[in-house]
Amino acid sequence: MTQTDDRTIAVLDHGLVRLVSYTQPAAMQFDEQGDAIPWTGDHEIVRNARVSYAAKPRGDGSDAQLLKYLAVNRHTSPFEAMVFTFEVKAPIFVLRQWHRHRTWSYNEVSARYTELPEEYYIPEPASITEQSKSNKQMRGEKLLPGVEIEAFRKALEETSAVGFRRYQHALSVGVPRELARLFLPLNTYSHMFATVDLHNLFHFLRLRLHAHAQPEIQVYAQALLKLITPVVPGAVAGFMESLT
Ligand SMILES: Cc1cc2nc3c(=O)[nH]c(=O)nc-3n(C[C@H](O)[C@H](O)[C@H](O)COP(=O)(O)OP(=O)(O)OC[C@H]3O[C@@H](n4cnc5c(N)ncnc54)[C@H](O)[C@@H]3O)c2cc1C
Repeated sequence: MTQTDDRTIAVLDHGLVRLVSYTQPAAMQFDEQGDAIPWTGDHEIVRNARVSYAAKPRGDGSDAQLLKYLAVNRHTSPFEAMVFTFEVKAPIFVLRQWHRHRTWSYNEVSARYTELPEEYYIPEPASITEQSKSNKQMRGEKLLPGVEIEAFRKALEETSAVGFRRYQHALSVGVPRELARLFLPLNTYSHMFATVDLHNLFHFLRLRLHAHAQPEIQVYAQALLKLITPVVPGAVAGFMESLT
C-alpha cells in the first residue's frame, strides 16, 4: 500500500483507492473576532450531534470528547452527516465482497459496454500461506513451501493470460462484450465509484479491517481509513477507540 498523493493510495499490484469528494460546508463559519474557523468534517458531525442545544462546533477538547462518546456508545446518526465518494480499482473477487455492503452506492464499469484492460491480480509470495486449520474461511500464517508458491503464481499468471487472449480473440471476431467476458478470471481488475456515509463506512471498516476479513480487502479498508483520517480526525479517533 503506497500513498501516491494526498488523495490516492496504490493497493495490491494494480489497484487503487482515491478520495474523490466529501461533504463540504456551504459557507465558512467565523468566530466572534470574525476569523474563519478552520473546517474539518468533524464539525459537521458535532453540529448534528448538538442540534438540540448548540448547533456549533466549539473547536476545543469537548468536540473530541463528544466524537469519542458518539463512536463508543454507537450514537451513530451524527456520523451520517459526512458522505464520501471513492474511486476504487480492485480485483473482481474483492469488489464482490465489497458489494455485499448494501448501504453504499456503487457505479461500476460495465464490461458489457467497454473492453476491460488486461490487468489481473497475482498475489505476492509473502502473502501465500497455507489454508488455516482452525478457521475454514481463512489462510493461516505459515508460508506454503517456496516451490508451491512459485508453481501457484506461475499457473495463475498463465491461466489469467490465456483467459485474456481468449477474451480478446472473441471480441476480435465479433462476440458481444457481454459474452466474451465469460473468459475473464475473478482476479481481473474492475473499477467503480462508491459513495457512503461515515456511519456505514465505519461499519464496513469494523468488518473489513478485522483479521478475519480476506487480506486483499483488508488492505483496501486500511487505505480508506488512511484517506479519511485527515478529513474527520476526531471521528476516526473515536472509531478506533470503539474497536478496543
Ligand atoms: C469475515 C467475513 C466473512 C463473510 N462470509 C460470508 C459468507 O461466507 N457468505 C456470504 O454470503 N456472506 C459473507 N460475508 C458477508 C456478510 O454476511 C455481510 O453480507 C457483509 O459483511 C455486509 O454486512 P452488512 O449486511 O452488515 O452491511 P450493509 O449491507 O452495509 O448493511 C449495514 C447494516 O444495515 C442493516 N441492513 C442492511 N440491509 C438490511 C436488510 N435487508 N435487512 C435488515 N437489515 C439490513 C443491517 O443492520 C446491516 O448490518 C462475510 C463477511 C465478512 C466480514
